[in-house]
Amino acid sequence: MSILVIGSVALDSVETPFGKRDDILGGSATFFSITASFFNKVNIVATVGEDFPKQYVTLLKNKKIGLDGLTVSKGKTFRWKGRYDFDLNTAHTISTHLNVFKDFDPCVPEHLRKPEFLFLANIDPDLQYKVLQQVKRPKLVACDSMNYWITTKKRSLERLLKKVDILLLNDAEARQFSGESNLIKAAQRVISYGPKAVVIKRGEYGVIYFSKNAHFIAPAYLLEKIYDPTGAGDTFAGGMVGYISRAKTINETTIRKGIIYGSIMASFTVEDFSVNRLLRISQRDIESRFNHFKKITKF
Ligand code: AMP
Repeated sequence: MSILVIGSVALDSVETPFGKRDDILGGSATFFSITASFFNKVNIVATVGEDFPKQYVTLLKNKKIGLDGLTVSKGKTFRWKGRYDFDLNTAHTISTHLNVFKDFDPCVPEHLRKPEFLFLANIDPDLQYKVLQQVKRPKLVACDSMNYWITTKKRSLERLLKKVDILLLNDAEARQFSGESNLIKAAQRVISYGPKAVVIKRGEYGVIYFSKNAHFIAPAYLLEKIYDPTGAGDTFAGGMVGYISRAKTINETTIRKGIIYGSIMASFTVEDFSVNRLLRISQRDIESRFNHFKKITKF
């Protein structure tokens, strides 16, 4: 079972109440693929600039992530600069420089055109659409987006949603996209655009999953120390899609379990800057947190 992801591979500059880092490895496809690689083979479709550090390419290679679809374009790598205050649930974007993504025309390599699972990680919805059009219909198409694209490319996002099975958004984005403040109504509105289900991420308050006839609520794994929430959403998606890709069938039970794995994986990412914590964990760490999660939510 293979997973294909299109999204950003970026250099982030991040400031939180606990520290500041410049030009560290980031990007939606980066967090997603490193996380999903704990579960399955992942291939990336993205582009970086000539300034993208070689050590980051090596890092992705060491995680056995397929890079045949990662091109180097003339120009600078995508850059995102953000800040978090003590309310770590809200990212304040200081700047977004699309750079090489501005003229990126994704071409999925021939041998990657039959993925069983496709994740359209946060990037220009027109690029997500182009990739979707180049592949044979996967078993599952999941998609993420953010306020930046909802503001600048809502129409493109609406066109894309007709072909998406599960949409992931945070609560503010769900409200912005739907124009509804109540999350049940927001989810129903999102589903009316095409997705079979929507996962609304609520940071430290966990996630709510809505499908046409059911919903499921999961808390976040409680942590004493959170250093940098950047990438939590993409990591969540990596854990969720990664787990589902290993299950024999896709049904409500496997989706729910995927949501818990997503929450567990995100709980690691926020414990350090960039992907640093993800690089230090093992399968045992994941399973031990998963089992602890089971214990603390049983009643
Ligand atoms: P999240 O999981 O929502 O915290 O995503 C954080 C990652 O999204 C960062 O590493 C950024 O590089 C990336 N990012 C921020 N803005 C955008 C954007 N407009 N398009 C694509 N990726 C972005």
